[in-house]
Amino acid sequence: MKHTATKENIDDAIARVESLGLKPNVIEGSERTVIAAVGDERIAGIESLESCPGVDEVMPIVAPYKLASSELKPEPSVITAGSLTVGGGHVGVIAGPCSVESEDQIVATAFAVKKSGASALRGGAFKPRTSPYSFQGMKEEGLKLLATARDQTDLAVVTEVVSPDDVELVSKYADVLQIGARNMQNYRLLEAAGKSPCAVLLKRGPSATIDEWLLAAEYILDAGNPNVMLCERGIRTFESHTRFTLPLASAPYVQERTHLPIVMDPSHGTGHASLVPAMSRASIAAGADGLIIEVHPNPDKALSDGYQSLNFDQFAETMAGCQKIAAAMDRTLGAL
Ligand code: PEP
Ligand code: MN
Repeated sequence: MKHTATKENIDDAIARVESLGLKPNVIEGSERTVIAAVGDERIAGIESLESCPGVDEVMPIVAPYKLASSELKPEPSVITAGSLTVGGGHVGVIAGPCSVESEDQIVATAFAVKKSGASALRGGAFKPRTSPYSFQGMKEEGLKLLATARDQTDLAVVTEVVSPDDVELVSKYADVLQIGARNMQNYRLLEAAGKSPCAVLLKRGPSATIDEWLLAAEYILDAGNPNVMLCERGIRTFESHTRFTLPLASAPYVQERTHLPIVMDPSHGTGHASLVPAMSRASIAAGADGLIIEVHPNPDKALSDGYQSLNFDQFAETMAGCQKIAAAMDRTLGAL
């Protein structure tokens, strides 16, 4: 819309988009309002929108993903969920164990990561494990323990949902729904998360291309949830010394292509606790909007992913290093 367009002009244009059988999605930018007309691009009559009062120009979005594209919204999106803010010059830090294991474990971890400046608490209650014989998580009991930890620390809770049927239950306890790497292309789950009031952290599948990942984000946006954060957690390559390969270039690349913030996961991205501090700092230097880091009171005893989890002291040191890089990058980091 022209920057002089009135509210009436905007409402009329929205009605015209609807009458063409397209779905209007209104994005209010700092300069002007953009109406995304989403749907089948072969629909006839799109040119007729040009004659609507207040319309500046009608242009196709070239990227396969539309609502996620920076063509639609050039300003980066800032996502806030409780104590967590990601983007807009602020690096949010999500920290906590791979899995919730007990009240003592999750509450002690919440206090420790908060003391070191984390913005939010992570912890899996529903765990998607490679083997059916591995620990599958504490399920609803784990969600309750996360809520207890939030009550005591005021940290926002980030936790995974593995099935569309569980979205409603997990949304009752979580501030951010994590969609795991193994579920990135579970389209029914993406649609269900798109209807949740919670923000969503969408992990990249280890063998997904960036376009596939952004199209997965598009499912959530298209279902009505604008609060999507992308999470680069490493991809599978021929290299076997690290668990996955963490592509740092994903951060600046997706920031060029989309307005969605990107959170880097150096824990799953390397699979080695000793590599996490350096890759956390490198992620911030590459411009990431957030970090998600596994932290456990006693990594040797963890029920999942202990080998890549930091203990409390290691996390405190990692945060101190990250603060220096964030300052050099003119960013703020962690708890606000
Ligand atoms: C996790 O965050 O513990 C997890 C299972 O991650 P991913 O889906 O990236 O493997
Ligand atoms: Mn894990």
